[in-house]
Amino acid sequence: MITTVNYHLTKACNFKCKYCYAQFKDIHEEGLPKAKQFEVVRQLAESGKFRKINFAGGEPTLVPHITELIQYAKSLGLETSIVTNTSQIDFEWVKNISSYLDILAISIDSLNLETNIKIGSNQSGKILSINNLRNISTACQCFGVQLKINTVVSKFNHTEKLTDFVNEMQPFRWKILQATEVKGQNDCNFEEVAVSTDDFLYFCSRNSKGLLPEIKVVKESNELIKGSYIMVDCLGRFFDSSQSCHNYSAPILEVGVKNALNQINVDSQKFIARNGNYSTIKENIVCTF
Ligand code: SF4
Repeated sequence: MITTVNYHLTKACNFKCKYCYAQFKDIHEEGLPKAKQFEVVRQLAESGKFRKINFAGGEPTLVPHITELIQYAKSLGLETSIVTNTSQIDFEWVKNISSYLDILAISIDSLNLETNIKIGSNQSGKILSINNLRNISTACQCFGVQLKINTVVSKFNHTEKLTDFVNEMQPFRWKILQATEVKGQNDCNFEEVAVSTDDFLYFCSRNSKGLLPEIKVVKESNELIKGSYIMVDCLGRFFDSSQSCHNYSAPILEVGVKNALNQINVDSQKFIARNGNYSTIKENIVCTF
């Protein structure tokens, strides 16, 4: 059983990662109004099918009421998570949401400006702020938010070593994903970013050496990624990528969670194989910040 749902609230993003599979070029509408987003979250929670909700995008922190949505999901009994490129958040943001947020997943593909420019994971030509990343990590430790790092391995970064910085950031989990082609999303120039499975595994093995033992590495190859996620798009429809393209259900708000879920294809064995069925328990943390 897949217990996590990924709600891609918006297709808007201030980065332009060339491997991005969540560009939603096939969706022309802006997305759902705020009240309907809350209703989608309510129906997902009340369906009883999911333990955790992960807010994603695009870049979910561009949604003005994202913290309200996280609080609402938490109030409905869901574990809460968000995946972000960190461009819009800082120490204070983490501190303010920490009572309601269980997991903060941040994307770090490289610490090198040129690599990030090639990938497209930069904003106005500026590298990810290393100091901001450190402050975010400190806030997570202080206020009891579990930090996770996501790294997508592509042609641009597959020879790089991030181990020391990842150790410094102290995530509980480091998810390393192979850049994956999804038709209609990132297939225009995918050969520019594609990395072989051998090179992906080389990155994983090289970066695992010297990693603190408490950091769990999760390797997700192309094959493991396809069809192992339950996702909801910005129009409130489930979708899957099991056939290397997005397959959308009818809108949840029209047909209900159960019926919409029956219209997509996901493989719970793959979800288990990538260790997706984990939970986080908050510790009592005292911080003087
Ligand atoms: S930051 Fe995320 S959503 Fe934005 S372009 Fe990059 S991969 Fe896509």
